[in-house]
Amino acid sequence: MAQTMRAARLHAVGEPMRIDQVERPVATGTDVVVHVKACGMVPNLANVLANWETWYPQMPLPPRPAIHGLDPSGVIHQVGDKVVSLKPGDRVYVNPGRFCGACHECSSGRPQACGHWTLGGYFGYNSKSMEMFERYPYGGFCEFMLAPQAQVIKIPDNMTFVQGSRMGYLGTSYAALKKCGPLMGRSLIINGASGTLGVGATLFALAMGIGKIYAIARGEELLSRLKALAPDRIETFSNRTGSSAAFVRARTDGIGADLMLDTLGAKAPLESMLDAMKGVRRGGRIVNIGGTSGDLPVDVKWWMDEQMELIGSVWFTAAEGMEVAGMVKTGVIDLSVMEPMVWPLENINEAISGVASGDGGFTYYAVET
Ligand SMILES: [Zn+2]
Repeated sequence: MAQTMRAARLHAVGEPMRIDQVERPVATGTDVVVHVKACGMVPNLANVLANWETWYPQMPLPPRPAIHGLDPSGVIHQVGDKVVSLKPGDRVYVNPGRFCGACHECSSGRPQACGHWTLGGYFGYNSKSMEMFERYPYGGFCEFMLAPQAQVIKIPDNMTFVQGSRMGYLGTSYAALKKCGPLMGRSLIINGASGTLGVGATLFALAMGIGKIYAIARGEELLSRLKALAPDRIETFSNRTGSSAAFVRARTDGIGADLMLDTLGAKAPLESMLDAMKGVRRGGRIVNIGGTSGDLPVDVKWWMDEQMELIGSVWFTAAEGMEVAGMVKTGVIDLSVMEPMVWPLENINEAISGVASGDGGFTYYAVET
């Protein structure tokens, strides 16, 4: 008889999740089953559950009743007969990125550009994502989940499972910074710096040798916490008080910053992004990992004349996740500046409605199974 497990499932939009008993997955081939210990809950989850199908009808959600949960960490429970390099007992994070594994982009180490690119337990990017949800129907809000070996990242002993469940947005920030090129001694605008992506981006940029960060956000209190991370290398500005671009240019002899990362939350105003972009110097590079949406009025003449680079970056590869794990292991990145809030799986609905504490990216949220 098949073994069962507890899983939080969404049966219908607008309803609370229910704790159901469902069949436990079995590992075959190159897949593993992970005993989930913690699963992160990003601030955007409530939007995804309530609004995604209206906001972005082209981006499918997992079929309901659905097991959501973007950022699972846990212990390998079982490995398929073709799995190598992983064994039961390994402490791991499961990268929720799913892809075909066989196309040109996948073979080039760019799975996010695969036509099947999907975030398991969260949402897909086009109709092909439905095939990925069918193969891997488990997010992390359950006791045991199936995962492809290629997306399983070992986490170091000094990283708790709850810290492991913060990996998603850390990896996303790190991958975006890598797309900026070498950071040593350079200057970087982080727009939305006090949010979940922004705080992670600040930690990594400091670790990667950035010379100066211009941290832009709304609230002064969170900005002062951010500045305390490296007072000599971080300058903060509340864009409630004026133009971000004017602030940066006033501090760079009118030239502007070398680089910019946009990390704003879902449906943030385009004006904020556009203003911060104007603070980037000629020949600068702008990478977007935020949730601002809509048509950005970019002057294509400026784009060409000033030789600007505008880059979109989504999520991160397993390789980048391994690099993040390595930086935590060696203490290059200290996650203790961020505090977790944790709920048991049974209280998942309380957790979903409780993720907006006002502490921005200094607090993160997880469900423990
Ligand atoms: Zn592919």
